[in-house]
Amino acid sequence: MADCIFCKIASGEINSKVVYEDEDTLAFLDLNPQAPTHVLIIPRRHIDRLSTAADSDAELLGKLQLAAVKIAKRLNVESGFRLVTNNGKAAGQAVDHIHYHLLAGRKMLWPPG
Ligand code: AMP
Ligand code: ZN
Repeated sequence: MADCIFCKIASGEINSKVVYEDEDTLAFLDLNPQAPTHVLIIPRRHIDRLSTAADSDAELLGKLQLAAVKIAKRLNVESGFRLVTNNGKAAGQAVDHIHYHLLAGRKMLWPPG
């Protein structure tokens, strides 16, 4: 997607602080962290949001979640972290390239605001 900021991060056109990458996945620090650890995990391939993913994306979506576990271990937060995706504007999605927020390092409230 030509004007997608996360596609530009995935291609290296826009800089980010990468904490994990593999052939399908990239994870980088959120610019505006909401917790001591706040990482965004994206597929390199553009998908707008979870609700626009296809059955054929199942393996990729699974890889994103398993990447989160690797990142949590790498950042020493595997004992307690939150993995969130905001699906659609009403849920707070600002960037239309599917991403999971990995949040950790503070007490997480429930229900989330
Ligand atoms: P969401 O509101 O779920 O779409 O989350 C978008 C997230 O992307 C927000 O937490 C922003 O702080 C973050 N963000 C936007 N631009 C960048 C960027 N260039 N590098 C890192 N994080 C970004
Ligand atoms: Zn994109």
